[in-house]
Amino acid sequence: ERFITQDLLTIAKETLFLFETQAAKKNLKLEIQADGCPHRINGDKTQLKQVFVNLVKNAIEATPENRIVTVVLSTTGQQEQVLIKDTGHGIPKNILGKLGKSFFTTKESGTGLGLMITYTIIRNHNGKIKVDSMENEGTTFTLTFPRAE
Ligand code: ADP
Ligand code: MG
Repeated sequence: ERFITQDLLTIAKETLFLFETQAAKKNLKLEIQADGCPHRINGDKTQLKQVFVNLVKNAIEATPENRIVTVVLSTTGQQEQVLIKDTGHGIPKNILGKLGKSFFTTKESGTGLGLMITYTIIRNHNGKIKVDSMENEGTTFTLTFPRAE
């Protein structure tokens, strides 16, 4: 595969830029938290952007007006970590295990495709994805990828 070094901050900024109009309609603040250090992983830019787009889109859709959606970038050991955090309606415990499988959706006109694609792309990048959610408090998706040298 044509995996080359990618800068996660660039991908995060480009993604949030795409959602500015949609977020403004709900008066949502889209924020990036990152230290000044580079956050580089090896991958395919289009695929990684798709992951960010899918997760930020879900976060915005789940979050009521006047709140915040945050992307946090950090480095831990040899891993790059990305958090996509929302303060939305959350995901009930009994459906957490169904995410990323067989077109699962709770939306009237949803497809369930977003997380399926997301999970596949992350696997192809030797990454991991985990979800923590509290009903009525919010959801955090945590991605970890091997750091690029
Ligand atoms: P779709 O968005 O078309 O429903 P996805 O695969 O993107 O499909 O998401 C599947 C389901 O996971 C959603 O229908 C929703 O129930 C749940 N979900 C995903 N992300 C979030 C989130 N940030 N907050 C609450 N629920 C979420
Ligand atoms: Mg979706």
